[in-house]
Amino acid sequence: SPSQTHNAGLSSVIRKKLMGYVGFANLPNQVHRKSVRKGFQFTAMVVGESGLGKSTLINTLFNTPLYPAKEPLPPSAERPKTVAIESISADIEENGVRLRLTVVDTPGFGDFVNNDDSWKPIVENIESRFDSYLEQENRVNRQKIVDNRVHACLYFIQPTGHSLKPIDIEFMRRLHNKVNLIPIIAKADTLTDEEVAEFKARILADIAHHNIHIFQAPTYENEDEESIAEAEEIAGKIPFAVVGSDKVVETPDGRHVRGRSYPWGVVEVDNEDHCDFVKLRQMLIRTYMEELREHTNAVLYENWRTEKLLSMGVAQDSSVFKEVNPAAKMQEERIMHEAKLAKMEAEMKMVFQQKVQEKEAKLKQSEEELYARHKDMKDALEKQRGDLEDKKRRIESGRPLTPEKPSSQTGRKKGFLRQ
Ligand code: GDP
Repeated sequence: SPSQTHNAGLSSVIRKKLMGYVGFANLPNQVHRKSVRKGFQFTAMVVGESGLGKSTLINTLFNTPLYPAKEPLPPSAERPKTVAIESISADIEENGVRLRLTVVDTPGFGDFVNNDDSWKPIVENIESRFDSYLEQENRVNRQKIVDNRVHACLYFIQPTGHSLKPIDIEFMRRLHNKVNLIPIIAKADTLTDEEVAEFKARILADIAHHNIHIFQAPTYENEDEESIAEAEEIAGKIPFAVVGSDKVVETPDGRHVRGRSYPWGVVEVDNEDHCDFVKLRQMLIRTYMEELREHTNAVLYENWRTEKLLSMGVAQDSSVFKEVNPAAKMQEERIMHEAKLAKMEAEMKMVFQQKVQEKEAKLKQSEEELYARHKDMKDALEKQRGDLEDKKRRIESGRPLTPEKPSSQTGRKKGFLRQ
């Protein structure tokens, strides 16, 4: 119908038929041209014990001698004791489309007597690539972000025909939410078709049992039947049983193919009846390379980033809570401050009272002194007045003055006075 609601989430979007040419049908071509101009960038990691054919498979996948043929270590050589991380990059081109391919190798994985921590340096490497991306995103200038994140991890399973080993499960459990895991049965030409089928079933059961998420080709609604069929076919081959070879050999019927030649015949790498190499290449390169990049960015990196930022925040909050919870600290400080104030007040009161007492005592003393002096003076004055009145009376009554008065008096009088 010309106008109908699109779906519940976008109920305001109405489908309309155009009346004439507009031009946006060319958008995919614009994106295409731009992508081709910019080129593509992809990083794949390979993990697995040495000798499982990792280098050979990478060379086979990208049809390039990316890895030179390895010389086996002489028995006397010092073997490294830890898992190393080595990466090589190459610019490859196909029909004018450029791809900067980086392969991260992990030599040493699973090669030691004790492989308990083999996954650790690999997780650290993947996380440090996330870290570097996050750091670039947080820069002021985000124009030239280099994406070194690992977009896919090919995990090579030894073709034992039994089931996954503890190291396989441990590795996948540690890595599955940080990288797109693509499990591979290495050197599948060493197993019969039946053995491969049984081995695959057991591996998938182990993976399900341990809740390990491996990369699944996404299926979208409204997709054409061909794409859906392709996705199902690819999904049906996981874990891919592959054969690698960078050598061209001649088949009994005279064709020249990439493969491995045995006394009983030739195993062809690119023959879907012989192994899952073609399906793996479709998954990794032809059909889902962009999906792998997208899933790395939108899901794996995003989850890691959220967790990282949250853990940083929560760690800070909890430490604040434990050590310097502001409310509790303020309350504590207030109580201490009040106690200090009360103590100071009590001390001041005591000192004040003491001082008042001292002052009062002093005042009382000086009052007494004053009083005593006053009394002395009063007494002295009283006595003087008495003497003067006595003198006055005597003068008035005509009696002679008291002998104190110095004059031309006789010795007798003097003698009298001194008595
Ligand atoms: P890496 O140590 O995992 O990188 O293994 P290499 O790629 O160096 O291969 C180790 C040996 O296994 C070499 O002799 C290869 O020729 C051989 N090889 C590689 N891929 C296969 C394969 O699919 N099947 C068999 N049978 N041998 C293989």
